[in-house]
This record gives sequence, structure tokens and C-alpha cells, in this order.
Amino acid sequence: MTSPSPAQPDVSTVLGACPHDCPDTCSLVTTVQGGVAVKVQGNPQHSHTAGVLCTKVSRYTERTYHPERVLQPLKRVGPKGSGQFEPVSWDEALDDIAQRLQAIANHDPQAVLPYSYAGTMGLVQGESMSARFFHRLGASLLDRTICASAGAAALEATLGAKTGMRVEQFAHSRLILIWGSNSVGSNLHFWRYAQEAKRHGAKLVCIDPRRSETADKCHDHIALLPGTDAALAYGLMHQLIQHNWLDHAYIAQHTLGWAQLRERALDWPPERVAAYCGIAVEQVIGLAQDMGRCFEQQEPIAIRLNYGMQRTHGGGNAVRAVACLPALLGSWRHPAGGLLLSASGAFPVQRQVLQRPDLLAHSGVAQPRTINMSTIGNDLLRPASAEFGPRIQALVVYNSNPVAVAPDSRQVVAGFSRDDLFTVVLEHFQTDTADYADYVLPATTQLEHWDVHASYGHTDALLNRPAVAPLGQSKSNTQIFRELAQRMGFVDPCFQDGDETLCRQAYGDAVDFQTLLQHGYARLTLPEAPFAQGGFPTPSGKCEFYSERLAAQGQDGLPAVLPNHEAVDSSAAYPLAMISPPARNFLNSTFVNVKSLRDAEGEPLLEIHPQDAQTRAIQSGDWVCVFNDRGRYHCKAQVSERARPGVVNGLGVWWRKLGARGTNVNEVTSQRLTDLGRAPTFYDCLVQVALAD
Ligand code: SF4
Repeated sequence: MTSPSPAQPDVSTVLGACPHDCPDTCSLVTTVQGGVAVKVQGNPQHSHTAGVLCTKVSRYTERTYHPERVLQPLKRVGPKGSGQFEPVSWDEALDDIAQRLQAIANHDPQAVLPYSYAGTMGLVQGESMSARFFHRLGASLLDRTICASAGAAALEATLGAKTGMRVEQFAHSRLILIWGSNSVGSNLHFWRYAQEAKRHGAKLVCIDPRRSETADKCHDHIALLPGTDAALAYGLMHQLIQHNWLDHAYIAQHTLGWAQLRERALDWPPERVAAYCGIAVEQVIGLAQDMGRCFEQQEPIAIRLNYGMQRTHGGGNAVRAVACLPALLGSWRHPAGGLLLSASGAFPVQRQVLQRPDLLAHSGVAQPRTINMSTIGNDLLRPASAEFGPRIQALVVYNSNPVAVAPDSRQVVAGFSRDDLFTVVLEHFQTDTADYADYVLPATTQLEHWDVHASYGHTDALLNRPAVAPLGQSKSNTQIFRELAQRMGFVDPCFQDGDETLCRQAYGDAVDFQTLLQHGYARLTLPEAPFAQGGFPTPSGKCEFYSERLAAQGQDGLPAVLPNHEAVDSSAAYPLAMISPPARNFLNSTFVNVKSLRDAEGEPLLEIHPQDAQTRAIQSGDWVCVFNDRGRYHCKAQVSERARPGVVNGLGVWWRKLGARGTNVNEVTSQRLTDLGRAPTFYDCLVQVALAD
């Protein structure tokens, strides 16, 4: 709602939503004075936001009015990657882009690839008009795997959907396992609920290879080796079975495959688990006892799982294994018990209406091929073949910075450097990816456009109203694709839909749009304890310990313990395992160019345990080289017990050109994929570290 202040008639406040890839999806209040956004704050009326934003977004005006915003269309005039561009008019840029895309599409539209992710989580500026455009064209489809698809596939196999506990219920839990999440840094508003539970006597246990800021504040920290989470889950099951801390009635009524799961769990006694995970046996037993104590007292046990733990070869199966625990304990009976990885499956998003896959019928391509965004490095370099289809000849990038964030940077850069690849990038800034564009098109930020949001960390839908007019010549993503569609001769009426119409279409009648307009958010009507009576949205209606669907695909029907592609102790040359969790002041690669946040972050850092540093004569502040066969990453060492022995933490994701020697952590990550969901394995990466020369 826009509300001018009686005292200051040129001052108003506008309700919006944070667009960033963060589970909290905060409700924003932007103060506008004389047409300029002067302040962005958390909405105190929205219970999850509670008037508080993270440091990154509380400085949002610094990002929107950044002197380096791209505010006019740019055409490349130097070699790819050099960042040499000259301004052109919108007409010149869009006419040329449409003509070039059409020429490629005349041979095979699948040679055109859209590349996008969660630069905005908005349903409208994300995938609405853009999806319509590419469907109508018959372009290749993009498998959007880079963050969450392994965990998503695992949840769908086990629980039936990306759904779980209501986040606010964590405030009433008695034992909270924070598994694979640095909530203090990247799930701040969940952390508030966990703190409330702690104040009321709950025990908090952090499970994470890194001693994160969250681990500092939990009662216990289990620093297991990356990629060993499934074994820990089985070790806990083993103890639950041994001590009969099992809700037999719940298991009998609401689960499938208990006998098989039980048999496998009994293969994982605590000693084996401890050796496999690189932790003390007392930690496995101690955590199981905590669970047993709560079970016996009928107190709710809750698991906040996050995506960090599914970024290894066996990450999908690890999520499956962890997702079995609440059903064994009967935790789902309590509103404050169960598990939450993602709530996004609860939102009634009308994707068919927004994205119009039916437009493919007009494109002449019945079923386009699908390209996995996580293997873009390899796929840009692949020649045409019967198996692959046409060579990728055009790439349209929006809401993403793949040159910085995609794994195996050398391959990614080699692909983007192809002179015969036509690349268009919709952006706010001249990112690493924009440097390789033929055209950079200036896109609006969240303060300048309409959007509608779901969330993966709570269950409120949000509306984002524009607070100010588009800066410079920038246009919303939707408007850019509308104008391209017109030039391509796409006359379907859906290309005329305005942004407010798209916002209304996103939920149709399932969410009251008037409520969104009035309050900025609308609470979904959902049960407080979603699986108290079973009713899992799986084919069997049960929590599927054993998945017939996965077995039919040749996968293990039970959750499997799969070793990393690059397992610890498997390489003499590369003896350290590296994970790359986000730096505190960045969100993926967003905000790296905001000076105050980059200053707070300092330099690209590698946390290394004192023992591992000593054997390499490394001290805090030394410049080091992190390397393997894929590449060499330069950064500063921080000798710290935040890293466990044998594991280094390369905090990401810096822009390459703002890092040291034009590198970032993805120089050394690989394009190998997870067991489920075809996701990248960023945390499954062996390296060596040495003082830089
Ligand atoms: S990044 Fe997350 S915590 Fe920060 S304002 Fe956005 S939704 Fe809230």
C-alpha cells in the first residue's frame, strides 16, 4: 500500500518483498521521498519479518542507486570478456537481438538457450513473460538445478512434496537439529524462532562440517565430514531402534518400507558411523539420546534442514535418510515437530498460466531438449550431435551470473568466450557474465517493478509494488521479453499481459489479491501439523522410506549412503576436502559489488584448520593458492577452528574480477552431479592448498 505522510506530503511508504534467494522472503517497507527511495526496512506487521532485515538488504538503496548500475543498453565493442561496450538505443539492441535469434531459430530454435535462476525469486520477473517467449520460440528448456534440485527430488520421493513444518512452530520445539544451515547468516528469521525455543529450554544442535556462526550459538556442534550426512542419519536410526525410541503406531499406519529400512539401519552402529563421518562416537550416541529423551517425554523434535548438505554426490539420498527420522519418532504428530527443508510446495502457483508451455505447440518443436544449467561449462563446448542436438548458438541470461556461480569456471569461461556464441545478458551491473555478452540490457531492480512471491522458508505469499520509476532506461524483464516478442512476430494475446495482470495470474483465485494489495502479504491456509494424521502427498499416501518410484528408475529404493565423487583420503595429490558456503555479507554472487558489504567481507577467504595450516607453513593473512586438476583459486588464508581438520572452507561467491588474480572458488569445483535431481556437487571437491607464489 502507498501511504503519503500528512506531515511530509512528498514522503510515502511502499510495501514490497525481498527478491533474493533466501528462505526468509521478507516483507519490505520502502520509504520514498520526492520519487527517490531513501530507506528500505522490514515490515513490522509481517510476523516472519518482524521489522528486521539482514544487513545486505537493509542497504538496498545503495545497490539500487549504485553508481555502476547499467542504465542503458550496451553493445560489445571489444573481445569477449574484456568488458568493452558502447551505449546503443533500445531499438537498435532489440531489433538486432530479434533478428539474430530469428536467424538461429530458422535452422533450429533449440540452438537458443535461456539461462536463469534466482537472481530474483519473483514469479513474474522470474519465469513468466520470459518462459512464454522461449516456449513460443521452441528454445531449449533449462533444467534449473544449481541450488536445490537434489533435496527437492528427495523430499518428493519421501514426503511427496516440498513441504514440511510451519517455520513459526520451531519456537515451540524442544530439540532442534539445524542440519546443513548457517541460519544466523542465511536464515535469520528462522533463527529468531530457534532462539525463542532456546529461551524456553530447547536444545539446539548444529550439524555442519564448518563451525559456523550458528554452530557457535548452538549447544552442540557435530562437524561431520562433507557428504557423510546419510550415515549419521542411519546411525541415529540405529540407536532409535536399539532403544525402542520408535512410534510404532505412526510407523505402522503412515510409513512404507519400515522392515527394509530397519534392516539397513542396523548395519550402521555408532562406531561405524563415527569412523565414516569423522566424528566422536559419543556425538552419535549423545544426539540419539537427546532424541530419545524428548521422545519419551513426548516433546517435539524438529529438524531444520538446509541445502548445504545436498551438494555432494549422495546429497539427495542424504536428504531422504534425514527425512525418515521424524516419521520414526512420530514427530509429525506435533505442530512443533517434523522437518522443514522447503515450504515452496505449499504455494498454489499457477505456472501453466504464467509460463504457458502450451505455446510450444506454435513453435514447431514438440518437445525441446533440456540443458542442465549445472553443466553449462561442458554444454557450451559440445558440438552438435544426434545425442546432444544442435550446438548452443545463442544464450539469453537473466537473473543469473553463471560465469561466477556455475561450477568448473575454466570450462564455463571457455564456453562463454566462444566467438560464435551470441549472448544477451539482462542485468543490473556489469557482472562477470555481462563481460561476455554481445548485448547487456539494463533491468529494473525490485524497487522499480511489480512482482509476486512465494517462499521456501515460510508460508505467506507476498506482493511487491514498484516504489520508484525505473532508473535510467532500465526496463523490467517482462517488458524486455514483451518487446522482443513483438519484434519476433509473436501475436498471441498473452504477450500483451501487463505486470499487474501477471501478478494477479500468479495465484489466480487461490490467494486473495486484495489482501496482497492491502497488506503486502497473505497467509496460506494450511494445517498446523501437516502430517499428524499421515496423508503424505506420495502415491501411497505414506512417508515412503522405500520408494517404488526411485526403484523403478534403477535407483536404490531405500536411502543409500553414497561416497563422495571425491572422497576424503582418496587422493594423495589433493588431500583436503573443500566446501564453499556463502560469505556472510554476500548472497550467492549478489552484493559482491556493493562496496560497504565487500569492505565488511574484506578479501576472499579460505578457512583452514591450524593443523592443516601448520603442515603447509601457512599463517592467517597469507595469500594462498587452492588448486586441483581443474584450476587454481587465489585467496587469503584464515587459520581458524571454523574449519575442521582435513576440510577447508572457501567462502563464496566472489565475482572473479573482484577477487584475487581474476579467480573465485568455482575454479576448483566440478561439474559432476548428485545422485538425485541432477544438481551440482559444490561441496564434493578435493583440493590442495599452498602458499601463493
Ligand atoms: S536476503 Fe533474506 S533475510 Fe535478507 S531481507 Fe532478503 S529475505 Fe530477508
